[in-house]
Amino acid sequence: MKDCIFCKIVEKEIPTEILLENEFFIAFNDINPKAQIHVLIIPKKHFQDISDIEGNILGELPEFLKELSRKLGVEDSGYRLITNKGKDAGQIIFHLHFHLLAGNDLGDLI
Ligand code: AMP
Repeated sequence: MKDCIFCKIVEKEIPTEILLENEFFIAFNDINPKAQIHVLIIPKKHFQDISDIEGNILGELPEFLKELSRKLGVEDSGYRLITNKGKDAGQIIFHLHFHLLAGNDLGDLI
């Protein structure tokens, strides 16, 4: 979608180190990390947020997560997955994304 910064990352118009990519998703480091490991996972197709999804893209997520967590070395130690929708959740980029947070500094908010 025009003017969407994450679509530009998908299209490689904004150079970004891609940690993992498949047919459906790409993963890259968050520019402003909130944990030792803070990776964003985004669908290549533009959806505004989690409630905007059409089709079965979420069904493709577990396989991607397995490979990504293996690559990051957190498959066994674990991670937290967060997605924000809307103002109160603090969503600032309106292209669906999942924050994968890992490391020993996650706290116990959730
Ligand atoms: P959210 O509040 O869920 O919309 O979070 C958007 C996230 O995208 C924030 O954690 C930002 O630090 C991150 N972000 C914004 N622009 C970029 C970028 N060009 N590359 C990597 N992460 C970004």
